Amino acid sequence: MNRYWSAVVHGLTPYVPGEQPKLANLVKLNTNENPYGPSPRVLDAVRAEAADTLRLYPDPGSNRLRAGIAALHGVAADQVFVGNGSDEVLAHAFLALLKHERPILFPDITYSFYPVYCGLYEIAFRTVPLTEAFEICVDDYLTPNGGVIFPNPNAPTGRLLELAEIERLLAGNPDSVVVIDEAYIDFGGESAVSLVARYPQLLVTRTLSKSHALAGLRVGYAIGQAHLIEALNRVKDSFNSYPLDRFAQAGALASIEDRDYFESICAKVVATRTRLVAEMEALGFEVLPSSANFILARHPVHDGAELAAALRERSIVVRHFKNPARIAPFLRITVGTDAQCDALLAALKALC
Ligand code: PMP
Repeated sequence: MNRYWSAVVHGLTPYVPGEQPKLANLVKLNTNENPYGPSPRVLDAVRAEAADTLRLYPDPGSNRLRAGIAALHGVAADQVFVGNGSDEVLAHAFLALLKHERPILFPDITYSFYPVYCGLYEIAFRTVPLTEAFEICVDDYLTPNGGVIFPNPNAPTGRLLELAEIERLLAGNPDSVVVIDEAYIDFGGESAVSLVARYPQLLVTRTLSKSHALAGLRVGYAIGQAHLIEALNRVKDSFNSYPLDRFAQAGALASIEDRDYFESICAKVVATRTRLVAEMEALGFEVLPSSANFILARHPVHDGAELAAALRERSIVVRHFKNPARIAPFLRITVGTDAQCDALLAALKALC
């Protein structure tokens, strides 16, 4: 116990990010990055910024980028909020929209940052167990609450909730904010952005870290009706949060404008995922149906911690979670290139 710390800090359990080992000679399949590079147009846009305008402050409103995102999704610019990664967007959403008298609800197996934000902002929450098949059951969220948040597809399960079920959730929660974290939606799901016009309580968050291969650029955004976006801006401006820097604004816009490249890398990840699942199943693994760029898989004999350690000795890094106990037998494996997945499969063949 540190006597100089405030009571707030003593109460915090900080988020533990996935390991970021040095890349040399490692097959890195642990933090759901895209194995392909970003669109070449991103590099052009970033180079142009570096050459011309780096001495000038960035646009505090990220107006060109927000207009580009709005055009992409067919919404108005005042329905778009951008932040330094969707983690920052989510942080503002927790404070601006999810802090109420009643506890908010999220699944007991989900993105492990949610309870961290709740701890930081002193937000009451209740976790809702997933079903036996590791699915979100909307009926469990139709009780009085201070808000609902989960990723769709969920992480780290990869399981998708159909749009009709999201709509049932919204219809059953007219008075609480529902945040759908669509970090992985581009790998196989139908976005809830189409519901924003009809549901004033819906906020959808997105990131360019996964499907746009831009984890290093730190760009995320949210789409919702203007009154929700205004709440996010109030919190952001109260923190005096940094606007997106010039590289982020220019690079993100170039990326969302290069639709062909985006679609081609998403299609490659999805094709490799299909093959990876089939080959892991042939090795005896149980693999949860995934709509994301990762899979969650367990072996009937070898447990997750043991396999993760043995793979690490072979220079292959995957993610293993100790908690909750239900996912401890599993490995979460990012879908890499075909060559990376071949290396993984060869190692698993030798180990299992
Ligand atoms: N939501 C979920 C479900 C995630 O897995 C992640 C990545 N760890 C994020 C949000 C945050 O991504 P970023 O801050 O890179 O946009």
